[in-house]
Amino acid sequence: MNRRGFVRASCLAGAAGLAGMPAGAAADSFLRRTVAHPEDAELPPWPSRESVGAYRSPVGGASRLVVLHTNDTHSRLDPFPEDGGPFAGLGGAARRAELVGRIRAANEHVLLLDSGDIFQGTPYFNYFGGEPEFKAMSAMGYDAATLGNHDFDNGVDGLADMLPYADFDLVSANYDVAGSRLEGQVKPSVIRDLGAFKVGIFGLGIAFERLVLAKLHEGVTYRDPVEIARRTAADLRARGCTLIVCLSHLGYRYRDPSRPSDRTIAEAAPEIDLILGGHTHTFLDEPEAFLRGDGRTTLVNQVGWAGMRLGRIDIGFDESGNPSGWAAAGYDIDDHLD
Ligand SMILES: [Zn+2]
Repeated sequence: MNRRGFVRASCLAGAAGLAGMPAGAAADSFLRRTVAHPEDAELPPWPSRESVGAYRSPVGGASRLVVLHTNDTHSRLDPFPEDGGPFAGLGGAARRAELVGRIRAANEHVLLLDSGDIFQGTPYFNYFGGEPEFKAMSAMGYDAATLGNHDFDNGVDGLADMLPYADFDLVSANYDVAGSRLEGQVKPSVIRDLGAFKVGIFGLGIAFERLVLAKLHEGVTYRDPVEIARRTAADLRARGCTLIVCLSHLGYRYRDPSRPSDRTIAEAAPEIDLILGGHTHTFLDEPEAFLRGDGRTTLVNQVGWAGMRLGRIDIGFDESGNPSGWAAAGYDIDDHLD
């Protein structure tokens, strides 16, 4: 893939209809994929150096949440070297921090999330075991992340040793950590009460089989994510969350439909509003929308790997704190951020 191949933003405005929308009118408008706020239907090419700080919501509504996300950053703290390779010059934690800072400065409610495989891929991990990765994410103000298979590459102890450097929540609902050093540190879910709306965030991890040696995940047990996703989402809803976000390291999709993936979770757990995926390193140009008959939708997104892209999904909320529309973009982390 050539470098310019990445430099395209996806930007779309969805009509009314994330979870919580009343059935009927909302369902109808969403299914027709009309745009809730037509004046915002034509957005400028995005992102550009100029538009990043000046971004205004196409979402409308009483209040707005900006969800920023990464996955499979794989210890890529520096941009890829300028060596003529396919990804030369792309990525870099400092540029990501700069971009996140600008978006935070322009928006009241921002969540920064990661879908796992933070570790492994550069000598930073081999030498320091994850400390600089976690410190960088903490400095950027990550709110929550889930665990990927590679986050166990130094074993449960290796991961537990790094937790003091992670100033953000680690969530996994289907890795049973009871009795391990991760107990109490890796939680099934967290809730962010942002006043006008309440966001529930939970994590799902991939099966260890063929990916993580038994001795490296000793004390941590994988459980079937499908039933747990359903249960956790229902529980978060019952606790008053009006937006439910799943950080998934299951992978976007597989030929074998019985293998859990972001798409099978979207089908099976309609209570979830956003599934931010990882593991398959999939560059989606825009979130995939699963439309529900009752007018709600679940969005599935994934932004490749190595921190080459930052995903952004804006959610508008109505006066009751229920989602009323969305828009999405992908920022390529490129030298325009230098
Ligand atoms: Zn993975």
